[in-house]
Amino acid sequence: MFIDGEWVEAHRGTHFEVTNPATGDVIGHMPDGAASDAIAAIDAADAAFTDWSNTTAYERSRLLYRAWELMTERSEQLAELMTIEQGKPIKASRAEVKYAADFLIWFAEEAKRVHGEWLPSQRPNQRFLSVKVPVGVVAAITPWNYPISMLTRKMGPALAAGCTMVLKPAEATPLCARAVFEVLADAGVPAGVVNMVTASDPRPIGEVFTSDARVKKLTFTGSTAVGKMLAARAAGNLQRVSVELGGHAPFIVFPDADPVHAAKGAAALKFLNAGQACISPNRLYVHESKVGAFNETICQRVGRLQTGNGLDDGVGVGPLVNDAAVTKIEAQVEDARERGAGVPVGGGRLTDGAHAAGHFFAPTVLTDITPDMRIYREETFGPVAPVISYDDVDQVIDLANDTDYGLAAYVYTNQMSTALRAFEGLRFGIIGINDVNPTSASVPFGGMGDSGIGREGGHEGINEYLETKTGGFAI
Ligand code: ADP
Repeated sequence: MFIDGEWVEAHRGTHFEVTNPATGDVIGHMPDGAASDAIAAIDAADAAFTDWSNTTAYERSRLLYRAWELMTERSEQLAELMTIEQGKPIKASRAEVKYAADFLIWFAEEAKRVHGEWLPSQRPNQRFLSVKVPVGVVAAITPWNYPISMLTRKMGPALAAGCTMVLKPAEATPLCARAVFEVLADAGVPAGVVNMVTASDPRPIGEVFTSDARVKKLTFTGSTAVGKMLAARAAGNLQRVSVELGGHAPFIVFPDADPVHAAKGAAALKFLNAGQACISPNRLYVHESKVGAFNETICQRVGRLQTGNGLDDGVGVGPLVNDAAVTKIEAQVEDARERGAGVPVGGGRLTDGAHAAGHFFAPTVLTDITPDMRIYREETFGPVAPVISYDDVDQVIDLANDTDYGLAAYVYTNQMSTALRAFEGLRFGIIGINDVNPTSASVPFGGMGDSGIGREGGHEGINEYLETKTGGFAI
C-alpha cells in the first residue's frame, strides 16, 4: 500500500492473491488492508492537505505533466500488466493507458484554469469576491474494468484542484493501481498527497471512508447497488458525492441508417472489454425494415471474433473478470433462449483447450429479444448483443428511455433532424450519434438516474473537487 509517501504492508501483515483471469495463474500478492490502514491513509491525506492546497496551480500542473510523461513512457509495460491482470486484449489496454494519461495532461492544464470572480454589490463601499477552493481530503473507490483510467480520471482533477486523496482500488486489479501510484511517486508527489489502501474485503474500507469526518468527498465508480449504499452513508456525514454507476445503453438504428455500417459499429463497440463497460450497448433496437441486414452483418463480425488470452495475436475478446460474471451471463442468455430468443452466434461458456483455466463466454448475438426477458432490463456486463426489432419510429425513444439507468445511448441515422430529435429526447448523459466512441478526457462523462451523480472529465470535471468561498469586503 502507499501511505504518507511510503510503500507499506497492511497493519495485520497479511496479503491477498491477484490472478490472471485468462489463465487462473497467481500473478501477485497485495497487502490485505483493513479499517486501521484506511484510517492511517486518511491521517496522511489530512496532514498533507494544508501544504498541498497552498501550492500554486503551476506546481500542481507540473506534477501532473510529469506524471503524464512517465505514464506515456511506461505505456507498454502498463498495457501488458493490464492485460495480464484484467484480461482485455493488449490493443485495448494500450488504448486505455493512453486514455488514462489523457486525464493527467488534461487536468494539468485545467489546474491553471480555476479562477474566481468579482461580483457586484448594492453598496458602493462593498466588494464581493468569490473563489474556488479545494474541498479537502477525497476518498476514491475504483472498479476493475478500467483499472488505470478510472484512477487518473479521479486523481487528475483532485490533485489539480489541490485536494489530497485516499484511494481503494478494486480487489481484482490492485497491481495496475500500484503501477499508477509508482508513476505518481516517481513524478515527485509529496508524501501524503495520494494514498492507496488495498484490501480483499472492501467493506471495512468503505465504512471508514464514509464515516471519517475528515473525508470531505467520496468519488466512486462501480455498481449501482454499492454506489447507492455508499452515497447514502456519505450523506449522513454530509460528504460531497460523485458516483458513476451502471448502465443499460440503448443502440438505436433508424430506418434511414445504413444497417451494415451500424452493425459494424455495434460489433466493434459491444465486444470492447468483453462487454464489461458501463457504456456498453445492452439493447440494440433495429428497425424491422433493416433488422435482416443488420443481423447478417453483426453475426458475421461476431462469429469471427477470437476469444482468448489478450496477449495472444488476433484475440479480440478476453476473459470475464471471474466465474460469477460468466454464471450471471449464462443465466441471462438461458432465460432469453427459454422465452424465445434466437441464438445465431455463441450462447455459452467456453471451456475447451486454451479457455479451460479462464473465465470465458463466447461472443454471442441474441435475436428477437422481448421486454419479458431479463436481459432487456438487467445490465449484462458481458459479450452478448441482444437485438430487438421495432416498428414504430415515434416510439423508439420512449422504449430506449424505459430504464432506470441513464448513462450512454447510441443512435444511427443519416438525417440531421432525426439525430437532433434523438439527442434531445434521450435521457442519457452520453450520446453517440453515428459514433461508437463518444468519450474523451476533454468531455464530461457521467449518467442520469441510477447511473449516477456528477460528471468526470471535461472542464467541469474539476468542479467536483472544488467549493466556493465568498468574501464581502467593506472598504
Ligand atoms: P462490480 O460489480 O463491477 O465489481 P462493485 O460495485 O462491487 O462493482 O465494485 C466496485 C468497487 O467498489 C470495487 O473497488 C469494490 O471493491 C468496491 N466495493 C464493493 N462493495 C463495497 C462495499 N460494500 N464498500 C465499499 N466498497 C465496495
